[in-house]
Amino acid sequence: MRDYDGQEYDDVEDAAAFAAVPDAFQRLWTPYRIAYIKAGSDPEFKNDVCPFCVAPTLSDEEALIVHRGTHGYVLLNLYPYNSGHLLVCPYRHVALYDQASDEEVAEIAKLTQTAMRVLTETSACHGFNIGMNQGRIAGAGVAEHLHQHIVPRWALDSNFFPIVAGTKAIPRLLGEVRQELADAWPS
Ligand SMILES: [Zn+2]
Repeated sequence: MRDYDGQEYDDVEDAAAFAAVPDAFQRLWTPYRIAYIKAGSDPEFKNDVCPFCVAPTLSDEEALIVHRGTHGYVLLNLYPYNSGHLLVCPYRHVALYDQASDEEVAEIAKLTQTAMRVLTETSACHGFNIGMNQGRIAGAGVAEHLHQHIVPRWALDSNFFPIVAGTKAIPRLLGEVRQELADAWPS
């Protein structure tokens, strides 16, 4: 192929060989997102099995678990709002926060604090959204099993994707983030 400077380049792919219409937009390629898009946007209850009861029975890698405590555990959300979006769950299948035992409440609080420290250390985030959606009407995707969201935030982390396409661009792979957080979690 001959480039614009008139020199011959053998190994360079020629962009002119591809049909394209240039425009002003930049592209953010997130091909692994297709797994979620194909699977649908809602967490699936397979055979009415609760995903937060099943997760602790799997390996950390399979379930995206970052840390296992005594009464509760921490895992990455499969449908993250941002990279490092964590969930803190009690092991017990309990729906509402006021149904959790004193031990569960104390450990959820402690795990939330540690999650903030680990996320700050590993990803230098600027802030957090932390909270629980109680009941499906309040937006809980899995209303039957209590889970606290911890979403790290960075300046300028939001863009137009969620508005125009119902899609969030997540720049890092879940497995990679899980390993990093698990390694950084204090033992
Ligand atoms: Zn459950």
